[in-house]
This record gives sequence, C-alpha cells and structure tokens, in this order.
Amino acid sequence: MEDQIISVNKLSKRYQPGTAQGINQISFSVGRGTITAIIGESGSGKSTLLKSIYGLLKADEGEVLFMGKRVPGPDEQLIPGHKAMKMVTQDFSLNIYAKVYDNIAAMLSNTDVHLKQQKTHAVMEQLHIAHLREKKITQLSGGEQQRVAIARALVTDTEVLLLDEPFSQVDALLKNQLRADLKRIAAETGVTIIMVSHDPADGLFMADELLVVKDGQLLQKGNPEHIYNHPDHVYTAQMLGNAVTLEAEDARRLGLEINQGKAVFYPEWVELKTSWNSRRFEVKDVYYKGFYEELLLERHGVTIRALQLNRGEHKKSEHVQASISRFLTLKS
Ligand code: ADP
Ligand code: MG
Repeated sequence: MEDQIISVNKLSKRYQPGTAQGINQISFSVGRGTITAIIGESGSGKSTLLKSIYGLLKADEGEVLFMGKRVPGPDEQLIPGHKAMKMVTQDFSLNIYAKVYDNIAAMLSNTDVHLKQQKTHAVMEQLHIAHLREKKITQLSGGEQQRVAIARALVTDTEVLLLDEPFSQVDALLKNQLRADLKRIAAETGVTIIMVSHDPADGLFMADELLVVKDGQLLQKGNPEHIYNHPDHVYTAQMLGNAVTLEAEDARRLGLEINQGKAVFYPEWVELKTSWNSRRFEVKDVYYKGFYEELLLERHGVTIRALQLNRGEHKKSEHVQASISRFLTLKS
C-alpha cells in the first residue's frame, strides 16, 4: 500500500433539501506526490468535492482525512481551509496592482527575511516566472497570472495543491506548458495535486489517477489510459474521447454483434480499408482537425465517425470501406 495523504470517505453534501445532490457518497484516496484529475460535466459536483477536501464546505455525511487526521470543517476553525493545502481557483485571487514578487512573498512571514527572499525566488524559478518579478499582475497574460497563482500556493510549504479548472483561461499552447510544469513540479517537490476540469484536453491524461463524476456520483476511478480504453459508462467515453454511441438496433444494421445496450467506440477504432468484411459507407462530411480529419460516415441511415490521417484521401460524397475494429457494449 502506498503512502496515502488524503482519504475521502463516503462524503456527501446536499445544498438544499429536495434538490439534486452536490456530491453523494464519494470515496477515494490519494497517494502522496501523485496527480489526481477529476473530470465531469458542469454541475457534476467537482468544485463541491474540492472545497470539501480543503475544509471550506461542511459535508453532511462522511469525512476527509489528511494523513489519517480528520480535516475540520469551516465551522470548526477561525480561518477555513487546511494549513497544508492550498486551492487555486479560476479567479486566481491575486493582488492585481502589486508586483509578481510581492504577490508571492506576501504569503510568507517576515520573521526571516532572507528565507522569505530565498523561497520566493526558488518558487519563481520553478515556475519559470523569475523574469516577471518586477511586473504588475495587470501586465501579465492569463497564463502568466496562472503561474503566479500556483507559485503563491506552493511557496508556503504546501503539501496538497487543489486546482479548480486550472486551464480554463489559458490558450492551447500555454496549456501544454503548464501541464508539463505541473508534472515536473509534482515530481521535483513531491507536492500532491488534485485538479478538476470539465475538459479532457486539460491534461487529464497526465494524471496518475482519474476520477469520473456525474450528478454528484463517482462513476469510475483508475489509470486514465485504462479508463479511456475501458469506460464503464457512455458518459465517460463521450467526455474523454467524443465516442460514437449507437443503439443496439442501429449497430446491428452495421453488422456489429450486439443484443442489447449501446455500441460505443472511438473514431480511431474505425479502420478505413478494403477487405472482405469491411463495409461501404458514404462520406457525408469531412471535419478538419489539424493533423488529421474526421469523417462523418453513413450506411443504412446510421452515422458514425472515423479518423482519416491522410488528409484529403477521401472526400465528401465518396464511398469508402470502413470496419469497426473494436466496440464496447455498455448499458448506459
Ligand atoms: P461543478 O464544479 O462540477 O460544475 P458544483 O460542485 O459547483 O459543480 O455544483 C454541483 C451542484 O451543486 C450543482 O447542481 C450546483 O448547482 C449545486 N450547487 C453548487 N454550489 C451551490 C450553492 N452554494 N448553493 C446551492 N447549490 C449549489
Ligand atoms: Mg466547478
């Protein structure tokens, strides 16, 4: 058993009686120094879960343990929020008129000024923002502000970093960089990261552990690659990989052997080829996706999607051979 830093035990939170639950009976544990990503559509309870872990929200049932010790709720302490954890939200909570350096240094006490300078400098180096030290927050891009916010959270010996939709303000290029930063920081400092997002592009695949939540329920947890390849629910396959979902009857019309439930497959599981058992589809549309294209294919009134890596190989209105090399049978 690895070293667990956080345990969430049957945690439930309902905001108003009679309404849908914020979170319902959620349990999982987090290993020290790991990255956990929680994914779920908007309103699925991700922020509620994160706030409960941090001690900002009082749960109705269940508990959160930090190193085996219960995390106190907001009604039990003067300043809500666990001392060893820090939470970074979308609004960053920075002092926008102060300089980068001062925003970070302000988190530390003045008892040892030399140590304060040293720590502030070290964390700025780690996040590649040392060159911005004299800039005001208003002069920074969204991605730079994000780094400052994370630096601020890490400068006080933080053991658990909680990130709520960390990449929502950041463009694709910076996202890649920030993801790599987070991974490196976790490895270098041993800090434990729990991040939530509704967007699978937010580096959820970099996580050691992925949790899928829907309507306040934990649907599935495990290694991201495993969950991608073996989703228990249609919701998960659609969130993670924009999966094609067919009713059994439609799937049978395409020659898939399925009695009941739904046939679910990712576009990359459809092979475009010529072989005795592949079937002819009409290309209804072609979507440009950068280095590949996605084809919208139809046969017997059933539409599926497939990847085309050789751009322009098959065009709209053409007929192609396609076979679904793998599909999952899921109930819901
Ligand atoms: P997510 O972060 O996944 O978008 P939230 O945890 O913010 O989801 O919300 C989960 C559910 O709880 C939603 O239905 C939301 O409307 C409800 N909720 C969240 N915060 C409050 C609140 N302060 N009062 C009442 N309902 C809330
Ligand atoms: Mg949220």
